[in-house]
Amino acid sequence: MTQTNTPATLTSPATPGTAAAQVTIGQPILSKNAQKAEENRADFQSRGLFVINLLSSPGSGKTMLLQRTLAELSGRWRMGVIVGDLQTDNDARRLRASAGDAPIDQITTGTVCHLDAQMVARSVARLDLSEVRLLFIENVGNLVCPANYDLGENIRVTLLSVTEGEDKPLKYPVIFKRADVVLINKIDMAQAAGFDRQLALENLRRINPDARVLEVSARTGQGMDQWYELLESYVKRN
Ligand code: MG
Ligand code: ZN
Repeated sequence: MTQTNTPATLTSPATPGTAAAQVTIGQPILSKNAQKAEENRADFQSRGLFVINLLSSPGSGKTMLLQRTLAELSGRWRMGVIVGDLQTDNDARRLRASAGDAPIDQITTGTVCHLDAQMVARSVARLDLSEVRLLFIENVGNLVCPANYDLGENIRVTLLSVTEGEDKPLKYPVIFKRADVVLINKIDMAQAAGFDRQLALENLRRINPDARVLEVSARTGQGMDQWYELLESYVKRN
């Protein structure tokens, strides 16, 4: 399922006897999702929240990354998490177990393989986000359509784990192209997985030369300091 945010031309149904009216409107007509995403963005801004949309295929370590981040940074600022999953609330429970009193909300999407801006708005309404500076949205594990849904986030972070293969950015260019940050996760397993680091970086650069790339292991903690510094810079800038 795809959505485009750029329909600039509106074609009204042809009326008999008139030339088919094709009206180009100066303001781009935003899709329903893009409109809701803009509302979310304004809401986040008014709350002083910096929001990160976290994307990856299933099993790349989004939940573990958040578990460690919450455990290690919760003394610095208050953080919250929205977790999207197709069926279970396992990830939300894992997070609650390690997150102290951080507000966490689960969105169970059922058959829908992505989060959209409306789901996020409803989730935000359920959460107590007072004092929260950083809100993570763990998207549904899927490298395809979540890329097409703006949630109103400030930035997108896409995870690529070393066990997935170096060609993922080439196979799923959109999600990597639209990432502000790419985290190469499970870097502690790179050797065992036969991960070709150079090739992976080359592939990433071909698709997205501007993304910030960090190599981390959410399991061992390797490289996580750079991630925390980056988060700190976002919170301070906000
Ligand atoms: Mg997860
Ligand atoms: Zn989907």
